[in-house]
Amino acid sequence: MEITGKRIIITGGARGMGRQFAVDMQKIGAKPYVLDVLQENIDELEKEMGISGKVVDVTDESQVVSFFKEYTDKNGPPDVLINNAGITADGLFVRKKGEEMKKLSMSAWQKVIDVNLTGVFLCGREAAAQMVDHEVKGVIINISSISRAGNFGQTNYSASKAGVAAMTVSWAKELARNNIRVGAIAPGYINTEMVAKIDSSVIDKITAQIPVGRLGEMSEISQAVRFIIECDFFNGRVMEVDGGHRI
Ligand code: NDP
Repeated sequence: MEITGKRIIITGGARGMGRQFAVDMQKIGAKPYVLDVLQENIDELEKEMGISGKVVDVTDESQVVSFFKEYTDKNGPPDVLINNAGITADGLFVRKKGEEMKKLSMSAWQKVIDVNLTGVFLCGREAAAQMVDHEVKGVIINISSISRAGNFGQTNYSASKAGVAAMTVSWAKELARNNIRVGAIAPGYINTEMVAKIDSSVIDKITAQIPVGRLGEMSEISQAVRFIIECDFFNGRVMEVDGGHRI
């Protein structure tokens, strides 16, 4: 698909990797629009880059449904959705400390599943419904993760990102008849604020396991986004962009 002039909605697009996608897509002639949870980050993006957005919590069905309807009524249906919003709430599954048994909490499980899995489901469903209804040739890109294979301390996150990969394949099979392609990207460790929260000694250990010897850059994931949009034969697959790192 030619990117110029295309309407691209990016969830979690006011910060981090999503912001980079929005800025890069605008540079090559697309019309990005971001959804995020903090108005101040959206305002900053608008002020600095002239990219608009709206506060929409991807976990809230009614907000997501009304957003996609209002956006389409005003601008036309989205051509591309990038399901990027995601969070972590890491913790060990069970751990005995002295006499105390520590368990991964239900709230840590649920909040990660809500944003990373339910949010992707809801935004994907509503974007696809508008694309199908208006018969546009669409693309949906879901951001999974290297952790989808199962990672230490990331029961919730790994499960959510594996679910994202599976939904990608299901949607690609179902939506091909409507001219909609669906792909995913599984980034390795990328130089973002999410990764900056990790202790530096842990980052050094991680970097030592990455064959290219460094973290990835957000622009390198943006390149993958661009490839998936432009290559009409890419469908139902997860592109791994991880410097050769295997968890
Ligand atoms: P960031 O935390 O930097 O950005 C995520 C954005 O999503 C933030 O703006 C955040 O808002 C927003 N967000 C959180 N919850 C919601 C919600 N309910 N509705 C709408 N927006 C929400 O993350 P990254 O840029 O690092 O990661 C982007 C994606 O890439 C995620 O899906 C992540 O899992 C995935 N990924 C990241 C990797 C990395 O190395 N960073 C590696 C592999 C995958 P707020 O400002 O409130 O936090």
